[in-house]
Amino acid sequence: SKEDVQAFLKKNAFVLFTVGAVIVGVILGFALRPYKMTYREVKYFSFPGEVLMRMLQMLVLPLLVSSLITGMAALDSKASGKMGMRAVIYYMTTTIIAVFIGIIIVLIIHPGKGSKEEFGKQQTIEQISPADAFLDLIRNMFPPNLVQACTQQFKTKYGRRAVHVTVTINDTLFNSTNGTQEVMELIREEVIPIPGQVNGVNALGLVVFSMCFGLIIGNMKEQGQLLREFFDSLNEAIMRLVAIIMYAPIGILFLIAGKIVEMDDLTQMGGQLGMYTITVIIGLLIHGVLILPTLYFVITRQNPFIFIAGLLQALVTALGTSSSSATLPVTFKCLEENNRIDKRITRFVLPVGATINMDGTALYEALAAIFIAQVNNMEMNFGQIITISITATAASIGAAGIPQAGLVTMVIVLTSVGLPTDDITLIIAVDWFLDRLRTTTNVLGDSIGAGIVEFLSRHELRSRDVEMGNSVLEE
Ligand code: ASP
Repeated sequence: SKEDVQAFLKKNAFVLFTVGAVIVGVILGFALRPYKMTYREVKYFSFPGEVLMRMLQMLVLPLLVSSLITGMAALDSKASGKMGMRAVIYYMTTTIIAVFIGIIIVLIIHPGKGSKEEFGKQQTIEQISPADAFLDLIRNMFPPNLVQACTQQFKTKYGRRAVHVTVTINDTLFNSTNGTQEVMELIREEVIPIPGQVNGVNALGLVVFSMCFGLIIGNMKEQGQLLREFFDSLNEAIMRLVAIIMYAPIGILFLIAGKIVEMDDLTQMGGQLGMYTITVIIGLLIHGVLILPTLYFVITRQNPFIFIAGLLQALVTALGTSSSSATLPVTFKCLEENNRIDKRITRFVLPVGATINMDGTALYEALAAIFIAQVNNMEMNFGQIITISITATAASIGAAGIPQAGLVTMVIVLTSVGLPTDDITLIIAVDWFLDRLRTTTNVLGDSIGAGIVEFLSRHELRSRDVEMGNSVLEE
């Protein structure tokens, strides 16, 4: 009918607009590079992008909390246990596959040549032990003060942080609760990995709390009714705010163009770094274009590329913002509206996925660690490669969904096999770019996960509908 045609055009015009924004952003960025803008001019130029980023971030906290609570409350504990299990199995499997792709591809292509001269000067980074980083991760799952977990605890070079941090200096342990002045300095300099935070929000702690809270009020019968309705309605209101921010493409254009204007000269990029970039891109492509779609197809028997087409705006937002947390509102919209994924699944699976499931980051961390070994002329034996796989997985879980968090948690991977942590600075020049690509892979992994978990949970969802007297799946 005429309405269908109109709807089709409208939808595709939007897709074209979104892809157009990326292309125009890249062209505009390169066109403006010869003008050698000052730092201030670049900041002014990319201001619309900055505003978009702030608007998205503004919604993350209420969205994360309200969707997880309603998501958990809408399921009975047996069903949510099963779905949670499926989600966790999916996260672990895909993360491990990603790590192995990273390792295999970097061993085959071998981008590092065993010389550091071409990278220019290096900086020093403090060492911290993987065990301390791991304990911080657990600590951050249980924030002693929920209000503080939502706001800020201390100021760093890149903003305020609300999480627990441990550092070792000359074999003495310090942490952010009892830390000395010097420790706080280090944290401020951002040389210490800080697991689990989103721009001053301890996301991991809030995820854990919201899940437990949702589960409890879901089991509270009439007594929980008020709370369930409150969070449900809060969630709905936030989603309507998200709809307003769907002007995203314009902001993304400026985010991308601004970054291209200020990036370092590409021609100065050494041969090793160039090869390294290509290796990462190939690895991410194999995972995102081959493995994940195949997995989706094998399990659901549906066309994965139609599913991915529905996600386009979320993927472009990830590319523009390099933050899976900031992209979360858009991921919700795409999955629920374009791909018609059941809200009980998205609310439950997406916030957790955006916080802990990072395929792109896992692939990247393993690949980068082996690249650094190659540059140092160090052969990694089998045991060391296994260690890298395990720590890369942990580091990707610990990395927050914010720009370049993966680069920081890489300290854990490098120290675990005795590689020099200072060598992280070798790859900093290209990280802003690779970060965007791995964030896109992260968002893709979370979304395909939601599709797969919904498919696998269709029986539970249906019987719950029957039990609740719903005639169709919720919306
Ligand atoms: N920026 C990535 C994300 O938000 C994390 C990373 O640095 O790998 O998903």
